[in-house]
Amino acid sequence: MTRDDARALDRIDPLASFRDRFALPEGVIYLDGNSLGALPDAVPAALADTATRQWGDRLIRSWNEGWIDAPQRLGAKIAPLIGAAPDEVIVGDTTSTHLFKAIVAALRHDPTRRTVVSEAGNFPTDLHIAEGAVACVPGARLTVVERAALADALDDDTALLLLTHVHYKTSERYDLTDWTARAHAAGALILWDFSHSVGAVPIDVTAAGADLAVGCTYKYLNGGPGAPAFLYVASRLQEALANPISGWMGHAEPFAFQDAYRPAAGMKRWLVGTPSILAMASLEAALDLWTGIDMAALQAKSATLFAILADAGAQAGLPCVSPTDPSARGSHISFRHDHAYELTQALIARGVIGDFRDPDILRLGLTPLYLSHEDVWRAGEHLREIVATEAWRDPAFATRNAVT
Ligand SMILES: *Cc1c(COP(=O)(O)O)cnc(C)c1O
Repeated sequence: MTRDDARALDRIDPLASFRDRFALPEGVIYLDGNSLGALPDAVPAALADTATRQWGDRLIRSWNEGWIDAPQRLGAKIAPLIGAAPDEVIVGDTTSTHLFKAIVAALRHDPTRRTVVSEAGNFPTDLHIAEGAVACVPGARLTVVERAALADALDDDTALLLLTHVHYKTSERYDLTDWTARAHAAGALILWDFSHSVGAVPIDVTAAGADLAVGCTYKYLNGGPGAPAFLYVASRLQEALANPISGWMGHAEPFAFQDAYRPAAGMKRWLVGTPSILAMASLEAALDLWTGIDMAALQAKSATLFAILADAGAQAGLPCVSPTDPSARGSHISFRHDHAYELTQALIARGVIGDFRDPDILRLGLTPLYLSHEDVWRAGEHLREIVATEAWRDPAFATRNAVT
């Protein structure tokens, strides 16, 4: 691929116009949108309006002017991105908190089944939360096995299979339908973590028959640092499952101020406390950008961007650990290198922002909404040069920051 080839692809790119709806700094090629999505232009104005008009002028009246329904309203905006019905998704809390609620709820749903099964090397919070959740349910345990052993780990004691759809390091993607069917064949529920796939690849929980799902909104959805997360519960399970963090916002009548907890109908019961309205405002403006986006076009562009970097990596002699089949991966590409940390820092010094995942992974996020083919081609050129000249050996690149 030459620069002209990349430019030619940009000229016919159906998503090219979205680039102008993001505020990206000059001189930066941002390949970390899988970790913190870029700032949509609409967000600062939405935050200012929420602070100045809604909070400043309208004060507490704003709760009845859109604030109190934000968790459901934003959930309905995320629903089409995962193939859910509008009333099957709610927004609030963090992915970690939603995981806890869903795991405990699934364990309590069928007391004859006591095991939660997950994958070794899953995203740390998923395993940490699962560990904490099983400790809260008498007799429950967590079984963590390598991917190749997962199918055999499912049996008549499995209450829940907890999988992350796209792996945060390698970009490997599970077949949603296939693994949902395997969990169901064992009589278990399945809980999907879409943190690295929502806004990155097409998802259809309804077609797959999935039970539960959670996901992050500050990655591909660009909701802002620490933006509230989402929870999906299939409508057929909504009345059967109970939220173990039984807070007043999930009560049937929060403003009746009753002593006893009585869960609200539908997704509202999954709420815990007062929603973070400033964070919701940022996320809502970011979500509005997704209206009408063709996920097939997004996936096709992601595949082309991937091919550009895969080519550059191959020329640099870097082993790629991400699947070659686009349908078997997410929207990031990862390379292995013994000095991946230094390599990442050398790229950042040239304005190419990717990230490092311990111990030896250089991870580059491919966000089709705001990256051009030429951007990615230029990033590939930097990568090739840094590897060829060993520019990463500069000692300045070896100092570790707290957040990698
Ligand atoms: C980013 C990510 C999370 C983040 O969880 P928080 O509670 O929002 O910090 C969880 N799971 C996966 C798979 C992730 O990639």
